[in-house]
Amino acid sequence: MNGVMRKLGKKSISVTDISAQYWCEKKMELEYIYGSSQTKAEKVGKKIHELLENKINIQVDLEPKSYADFVYKTLYTNYIGISELLKSKKTREVNIFGRIGGISLRGKIDQLHMKDNAIIILENKTKTKDEPPYAAQLLTHRVQVILYKKMLEDLKSEKYTIDMFRDDYWIKNLSLTREFEQQISMLNIPSNIRGIDGILKNFFNIIKSLPEISNTMYIRYSNQFTEKLIKMYKLNYTDKEYDELMSYSLKYWNGLREALTVPENEQWKCKFCSFFGNKCKVWYTSDNIKT
Ligand code: SF4
Repeated sequence: MNGVMRKLGKKSISVTDISAQYWCEKKMELEYIYGSSQTKAEKVGKKIHELLENKINIQVDLEPKSYADFVYKTLYTNYIGISELLKSKKTREVNIFGRIGGISLRGKIDQLHMKDNAIIILENKTKTKDEPPYAAQLLTHRVQVILYKKMLEDLKSEKYTIDMFRDDYWIKNLSLTREFEQQISMLNIPSNIRGIDGILKNFFNIIKSLPEISNTMYIRYSNQFTEKLIKMYKLNYTDKEYDELMSYSLKYWNGLREALTVPENEQWKCKFCSFFGNKCKVWYTSDNIKT
């Protein structure tokens, strides 16, 4: 584990961490050190996202009792989700795994659908007002979908292998609890996917069987109260953009530089930050105290 990962108490990075870096790297780091504090709008957005997830997502009636059970349930739910995508051309909330610069990376793709025999990634975002996102907001979401596309591609092409997954999630010698095995047998899950290794192989195989992952991706913004569509952005994936984004990102994660604060022309972000004026005073002046 490198110095930054140790400092933040992390063994892996999430796609959300990287997208948060593109808002303010310092804020992302402080949230790990001192705990995160969501704004009211963020809490409402999260709740709506969960409701949407429950409405469309595949519900799997399994209650994990241990880490091994939890890994199984995650893989099984993903397997069912991808099977659904192949069958009905649409699925939601697919967990995704990979690595950047040798560090384990995980994320959750909001929505996948199939069109003209290609898989299309779509990210749903909510807003409190019927206004399109700021460019800075859009960038963080763009980073997210670019990573999803690359991770899905790496899984499909086996750049991220089943053995890498076994190492990253320490599952080599894990076994399911007896109680969880009973739940699996009550669901009549086929015998070849009843153990961790069986479901892992089948999950990797079904990802490999997917048609081409489209370079075209979408981010959809809707009003979190009315669900009205605000704006849909169409993006095009390129390896060049991915490499540029990750090269910036990895300098921090590899400990080659300290966490950066926002530049002067983005000071406005500090007004939305709970660390402003306490844990971070980089743009805090006497004028801020008066207001
Ligand atoms: S106060 Fe501003 S610069 Fe400091 S962590 Fe928050 S957003 Fe970043």
